[in-house]
Amino acid sequence: MKNNLHRRIFIGMFVGLVLGLALNYFANPDSSLYINAIWWLDLFGKTIFVGGLKMIIAPLIFASIVAGISTLPNMRELGNIGGKTMLYYVTTTTIAVAIGVAAVLIIRPGEKAASQSIRAEREAEIQEYVAAFTTESGLDPATPEGEPAFRRYISDHEDIAAGSSGDSDKYSRMNTASEQSPGDMLKTQILMKVLENPFNALAQSPPNALGIIFFAMLTGLACLALGEQAKPVISFFQSFNDVMMKITMWMMEVAPFAIGCLIASVIAELGTEALQSLGWYCITVIGGIFVHCCVLLTLVATVGGMSPLTFLRGIQDAWLIAFSSTSSAATLPVTIHCLTKKLDVDEKVAEFALPVGATVNMDGTALYEGVAVIFLIQMYGGLADVPIVLTAGTTGVIFITAVMASVGAAAVPSAGLITMAIVATAVGLPLYYIFIIFAVDRMLDMFRTSTNVLGDAAGAVIVNRLERKRLDAAAAGTP
Ligand code: ASP
Repeated sequence: MKNNLHRRIFIGMFVGLVLGLALNYFANPDSSLYINAIWWLDLFGKTIFVGGLKMIIAPLIFASIVAGISTLPNMRELGNIGGKTMLYYVTTTTIAVAIGVAAVLIIRPGEKAASQSIRAEREAEIQEYVAAFTTESGLDPATPEGEPAFRRYISDHEDIAAGSSGDSDKYSRMNTASEQSPGDMLKTQILMKVLENPFNALAQSPPNALGIIFFAMLTGLACLALGEQAKPVISFFQSFNDVMMKITMWMMEVAPFAIGCLIASVIAELGTEALQSLGWYCITVIGGIFVHCCVLLTLVATVGGMSPLTFLRGIQDAWLIAFSSTSSAATLPVTIHCLTKKLDVDEKVAEFALPVGATVNMDGTALYEGVAVIFLIQMYGGLADVPIVLTAGTTGVIFITAVMASVGAAAVPSAGLITMAIVATAVGLPLYYIFIIFAVDRMLDMFRTSTNVLGDAAGAVIVNRLERKRLDAAAAGTP
């Protein structure tokens, strides 16, 4: 990869920013100029570039995990690397949620004037619902038998409105996510995915990463157990992995142009009105993410033994692609390249920790889910259909479900918004209230996805430092 790639990416981003701002301010969204411009930008950015990266992730995850595990010195090493990686992932995700919860409780974005005027509008709507409900049913919403019927009444009407809106698809996926009990979730979201036919797992869109990872780990372990006999399979997967990385490098050549298109399209479509009314909410999410990134960099410096500047320079291509594509899965090939080729992380560590991290370790998403649900409760709590008070208990439930929801989120754009339904349902927040934050989700997704990738990369550096000596010694044949 050429050394000046980051410079070219920055130039691409800058040109995209200027073009996006020009479209946002000067072009009428209904004009054919605007519609055509967005069509072409999306064609080059989303369809071709992000689509191309997504094309290689399923085979890449499979090949890189098999290659990584089958070349370990022994089976025990997988336990060491896997154990440390998982410990790091759980710890940092928990820290991320804690930072998010602290930020939203300190800044209180839901109590600012802009949020309160949105609440006032909603109160007026609820009054209209009360009048219509009382006339239609003859019940009083303030009575014990009227109250649940009234809440159902609002919910039915909101569901119909959401179902006919442009975001109906996201809404119905949120509803499906919220209807599952924890037991069902364990069964359908984890066990059934893990044990899926690997060809099915590879063929889905987005691919079933959990299924691929599990089957690849088994294949890698079996190769390790067979030793000499499995040599052809091991070398096949090693070369196949190199081939996937070569394709990634080719794609990176067009990254500056594609990233420019992605940025231009986001900025052109960004509603400035939404930014004004949800400004404090965005500041809280981005501020929390900034603090969390500082924590990760401190861990890289202290536990990982690497200067934060070296680390940031090494992963900047991956960070920028995550930021503009909003998919940590699509970024994975570049993340693996950055860690192994620029930061000298052992391939055995990177090829295991990064695909697993892209699938289950989402610090930015976890932080965001906690902030979003608490923000909505601050803004709407106490309304007739939001009988929620923010107590230590509710906050605890949000804390735990935000961690779970981030693990369950797929590494694709907007996935965090869908799994947020799990957190909202756990505390009784009606899903239609999540609609209000859709307007700024794409922008916040850029920040959380790049943080997700930063978190995975930091984990690989840390585990590499802790395991490197042992791996090198085992490879050299010394105990
Ligand atoms: N887009 C994020 C990712 O790919 C997931 C999310 O929506 O939070 O990591």
